[in-house]
Amino acid sequence: MKIVIVGGGAGGLELATSLGRSLGRKGKAEVLLLDRAHTHVWKPLLHEVASGSLDAETEAVSFRAHAHYNSFNFKVGSICGLDRKRKVIHLSPLLDDGEEILPQREEAYDYLVLAIGSVSNDFGIEGVADNCIFLDSISQAKTFQHHLLNRFIKLNRDLGRAELNRKLHVVIVGGGATGVELSAELFKARQWFSTYGLRNVLPEHLQVSLIEAGPILLPALSERISSAVLTELERLGVSVHLSTMITRAEKNALITKDGTRFDADLMVWAAGVKAPSFLCQFDGLETNNANQILVNPTLLAKNSSSVFAIGDCAGCEMIAADGKVHWVPPRAQSAHQMASTVAKNIQNLQAGKPLVTFTYNDYGSLISLSDFTAFGRLMGGLSTGSLKVEGRIARIAYVSLYRMHQIAIHGWFKTLLLTLSDKINRFIRPRLKLH
Ligand SMILES: Cc1cc2nc3c(=O)[nH]c(=O)nc-3n(C[C@H](O)[C@H](O)[C@H](O)COP(=O)(O)OP(=O)(O)OC[C@H]3O[C@@H](n4cnc5c(N)ncnc54)[C@H](O)[C@@H]3O)c2cc1C
Repeated sequence: MKIVIVGGGAGGLELATSLGRSLGRKGKAEVLLLDRAHTHVWKPLLHEVASGSLDAETEAVSFRAHAHYNSFNFKVGSICGLDRKRKVIHLSPLLDDGEEILPQREEAYDYLVLAIGSVSNDFGIEGVADNCIFLDSISQAKTFQHHLLNRFIKLNRDLGRAELNRKLHVVIVGGGATGVELSAELFKARQWFSTYGLRNVLPEHLQVSLIEAGPILLPALSERISSAVLTELERLGVSVHLSTMITRAEKNALITKDGTRFDADLMVWAAGVKAPSFLCQFDGLETNNANQILVNPTLLAKNSSSVFAIGDCAGCEMIAADGKVHWVPPRAQSAHQMASTVAKNIQNLQAGKPLVTFTYNDYGSLISLSDFTAFGRLMGGLSTGSLKVEGRIARIAYVSLYRMHQIAIHGWFKTLLLTLSDKINRFIRPRLKLH
């Protein structure tokens, strides 16, 4: 049996690791992970990479090395097509500076798991794709960090020439978790630029505007958390603009529906996600409005007995607490839980047992405002209600989400060592990545 998993993110890497250990190691199946990148960085860390407070290289997991230690194979490749009749996927040519390293090629499978995540949704708004930075991948987060550093260097020179009213203005569109958390991270980062040699730059020279089309921040969370986050962001100095709809982006400016213009040095678009658009024409697999592949409760794609989809690219319906049908939200915890169900189902298929169905358990939501504070609600456990958490406890719960992901891919012992090495790195490394 050959299992091909495409996408080694929050869901795909956990799945490949679990199947490698359970089936690959015992020679019961061949497990192959494919990803367009060579390394994995947990996506919820990208805003920290973007602000420079986290060095992606120290957090990155090399797919090849990880595959070697966990009894699965890894190949680099970007999926671009599917032939369900022949049970093959198509991979785009692999290019290096225009030079073809590998041609367009095929990979055969018995069972295929699509775990390719999501991309930012620009809702087709004019100029956004060309002028805003998205935080969909590690390379985009690094691009933002690079631009931020260079803009600060330029600002330092301008302030030295007595252009005293110059500021660096970052505008972030989208008041969801990514926009909120990035705003707070930037406020942490700004303290370090003058410490690390850009002497003319003071913290107040960074201005951050957060623009949200809806009437509240973090609409998916409770009103209490939403207003607490708003108060905290404004206390830090973020200019929050609610009920403000962007209708056009230009080079260095965003224009709202009522014609207001936000001039900006850097613009980040974080206003929602959708699955990659090529999934809409993927050999007849059904998709929803967000391009997600519709799946059955077993997480097999509708009308398929050999293609699974998990994580942000899967359209999975659930009955929510309000009794209504909703889509399972695009979150790391959804990808993690779906990976566990598909691991079980593939083991059951291998053993000739019936498939289990997926139930989404909402363990709560946490929002971290960098080192300043955190807010959230934790669900389940002994109570059926939710527990509101704030400050240090919420921050510990937030960090433990990443530790859970590390445990799923590295095991307890290595995660303990990684936690220890993070503590040491905080002591021996600069607080901000400056290259
Ligand atoms: C800044 C930020 C903060 C977030 N914070 C939180 C949070 O606090 N809590 C939370 O629950 N969620 C958070 N999320 C959402 C969370 O990161 C995603 O829901 C989760 O990563 C989805 O997991 P996934 O496995 O579906 O996809 P991903 O983790 O995105 O992985 C997709 C993988 O597929 C690969 N890939 C993509 N296209 C192709 C292709 N064509 N061919 C081959 N490989 C491909 C990518 O390289 C990647 O490795 C955050 C997201 C962002 C961007």
